[in-house]
Amino acid sequence: MFIPEKIYYEQEVENYELGKELLEKYKDVPKTIIDDHNNIEEMRKKENSEFPKMKRNLIIGTRKTHKYVPNYKISNFLVPYTSSGCTAMCMYCYLVCNYNKCAYLRLFVNREQMLNKIIKTANSAEEDYVFEIGSNSDLILENTITNNLVWTIENFRNSKKGKLTFPTKFDMVDSILNVNHQGKIIIRMSINPEEIINKFEFGTSRLRQRIEAINKLVEANYEVGILVAPIILIDNWKLLYGKLFEEINELLTEKAKKKVFFEFIFMTYSYIHKAINSEAFPNSIDLYNKEIMTVRGKGKYTYNQFVRQEGEAFFRDLMSKYFPNNEIIYFS
Ligand code: SF4
Repeated sequence: MFIPEKIYYEQEVENYELGKELLEKYKDVPKTIIDDHNNIEEMRKKENSEFPKMKRNLIIGTRKTHKYVPNYKISNFLVPYTSSGCTAMCMYCYLVCNYNKCAYLRLFVNREQMLNKIIKTANSAEEDYVFEIGSNSDLILENTITNNLVWTIENFRNSKKGKLTFPTKFDMVDSILNVNHQGKIIIRMSINPEEIINKFEFGTSRLRQRIEAINKLVEANYEVGILVAPIILIDNWKLLYGKLFEEINELLTEKAKKKVFFEFIFMTYSYIHKAINSEAFPNSIDLYNKEIMTVRGKGKYTYNQFVRQEGEAFFRDLMSKYFPNNEIIYFS
């Protein structure tokens, strides 16, 4: 259970039901009123080395921009939703953006406004849209604080059209298992070898627990995907990922094995990550490997095309061996 060391909040959250609930829940936690959750001067000035400490704060505000970004993978749109950032510290997390401003968990209490917009967009569209609501945070983690996921599923199920989807690296799914979801929710569990979780995904759930959560979600008739992401090509990656597939094959129930689909995403890294990680986690392994990475976009690194091709062939072989009948949605 996450108990923040300090809360920064916009005063207007006191006008929202969820805002009141959160302030009451954390009534003993020290608080500071802020003007804008996007610009907390005290936070902006912190050193990179303070990154893990910053993660112990909680920021509460309202989301002001509600722009949908078209997406062409599992969803039709990336939708800003009820949180941004997370309490965990994955060393490659793309939410670690400029000047640390996205690193910590921010909760947005105007959830009715956000969900109503999704329902309106879904119902006025000709096709059945899928909305990605978890591209800015981890909603399973957030749900342990706000119960927002239960609220979302209960309030979205009567929408005539549309589906919601989100990825997660957490296993705390019990509270949504008995919620009537009407088949309108797609949950994608992100997995990685245990050694990679230990070295680079601080504060997330263990591999075994994530696989157990997949089994529970399938049993509760959710549509479930396995997101092999981000694929990190450290020295012994073939050994680690080979073992990962052995483990998921062994631990998934027969029902889950039949139903899950797969997505594969290679890691993207950046100059900002490198700067923060070298100061916040000085003893960690450097995820930047100039031998096999190339520049993609401003300050971003990705694996070069030769390594990616080798990787994709390797994972397609694993899929043929263990999950020959499961759909691979994409490699990215
Ligand atoms: S769990 Fe997801 S949102 Fe949280 S730090 Fe890791 S990658 Fe980022």
